[in-house]
Amino acid sequence: MTPHDHKAHEERPHRHHYDAEMLSVEDARERILSFFSRLEPAEVSLLDALDMVLAEDLVAPQDVPPLANSAMDGYAVVASDLSEASESSPVDLPVAFSVAAGQLPSAALKPGSVVRIMTGAPVPDGADSVVPFEDTDELERRKNGNAAEDRIGIKLAAQPGDNIREAGEDIAKGEVVLRSGSLLRPGAIGVAASLGRSHVMAYRRPVVAIISTGDELLDPGAQPQPGKIYNSNAYSIAAEVKRYGGVPVISGIARDTVESLENRLADAVESADMVVTSAGVSKGDYDVVKDVLAKKGEIALWSVRMRPAKPLAFGTLDGPGGRKVPHLGLPGNPVSAMVAFEQFGRPAIHLMMGRSELQKPSIEAILDDPVNNFDGRRVYARVVVYRAESGELRARSTGTQSSGALTSMSAANGLAICPDDVAKIEAGETVTVEMLDWPEAVFSGFGPAR
Ligand code: AMP
Ligand code: MG
Repeated sequence: MTPHDHKAHEERPHRHHYDAEMLSVEDARERILSFFSRLEPAEVSLLDALDMVLAEDLVAPQDVPPLANSAMDGYAVVASDLSEASESSPVDLPVAFSVAAGQLPSAALKPGSVVRIMTGAPVPDGADSVVPFEDTDELERRKNGNAAEDRIGIKLAAQPGDNIREAGEDIAKGEVVLRSGSLLRPGAIGVAASLGRSHVMAYRRPVVAIISTGDELLDPGAQPQPGKIYNSNAYSIAAEVKRYGGVPVISGIARDTVESLENRLADAVESADMVVTSAGVSKGDYDVVKDVLAKKGEIALWSVRMRPAKPLAFGTLDGPGGRKVPHLGLPGNPVSAMVAFEQFGRPAIHLMMGRSELQKPSIEAILDDPVNNFDGRRVYARVVVYRAESGELRARSTGTQSSGALTSMSAANGLAICPDDVAKIEAGETVTVEMLDWPEAVFSGFGPAR
């Protein structure tokens, strides 16, 4: 973030306001989110439900575990038989039978005998504790060539309840284990499985259609052509959609003609819950596309008080059956498109998925490099947050802050924020960083080296 980077900043030519208003990021986000609501619940197979929001209360149909079972490999005993047992004078008892995990005990345990039992196996009636193998003379007997099953010497004065997991110890039958609205993290997926569920009801994932606009664009995989660039926005935005839980549909490239854009939009609105376009929101382009968008629905061009990504379009498209499909028009510059999507697209996806926390997680870090703000917009500076040897979190610039330099975004794990009304945050000062990757990437893989 040297002063030279300012000149390179590609958004400076767009400093005219085509819309009298200049919206704060929060105002823009609030307006946008008011057009979205939570989608309907759908039945989802369990693993696919990871990171979705549960749309039903999960009630335990039975106790978990269903039966009292052993927490150790050992012997099920009656504790009162063993009050005299010790390391030096084991109590010698007959082994009545054995029970493995997945079996049911063939009979109740009679006092004066024991049952060989494996971890997870149901404890026979009559037994009140389990003595682990280590506290018996099983190994010595084996060494002496005796069959372990006949008799066993118990070396421990067991207490009732030792090494027994009671039925319903984790979950009692009828208990609401997970409430509707819970985020299905890996542990919750496991809990649902432990209740016997192969599917759950969860708020469905939004389908997000992504249209790139521009005569200069080529699909990745095509031969390079003079004057053309590859369509990276479709992929970076689709990747963000996917990361945040949506279903991205890359709906191709619209050329800078009315007809091309109309065709793309017609396809996209068929099944999408949101349409995202990139480019065409800068002054020259917008005049061309706004008529198309106005015909297909409603659209407004906004100036948002942020850098990068000041120009933003938002509106609704007329979908099938009178459905209004929200349309987010991102700027064309690759970094601007991604940063705007983080601020406006990501919370829209999470809102549709029923997430209650829409705020991006942020941390405080100490800047290695200054962040300059020379025209009163909130700056989102691309940084690497890392844990310094001193233990503190620090943030260093990823280099050029040009909104065309996508590598500065791929190198970053966070966006350091300089508020609208602060002209500069100096090196050594504390800054708030919205994390793009959280938290593992902060503590591994990124170092202080440049
Ligand atoms: P525009 O918003 O059309 O003025 O585009 C701004 C800048 O972003 C130009 O340099 C475009 O070439 C570039 N750009 C637009 N769309 C894409 C895209 N899909 N992938 C990569 N760069 C793009
Ligand atoms: Mg263009």
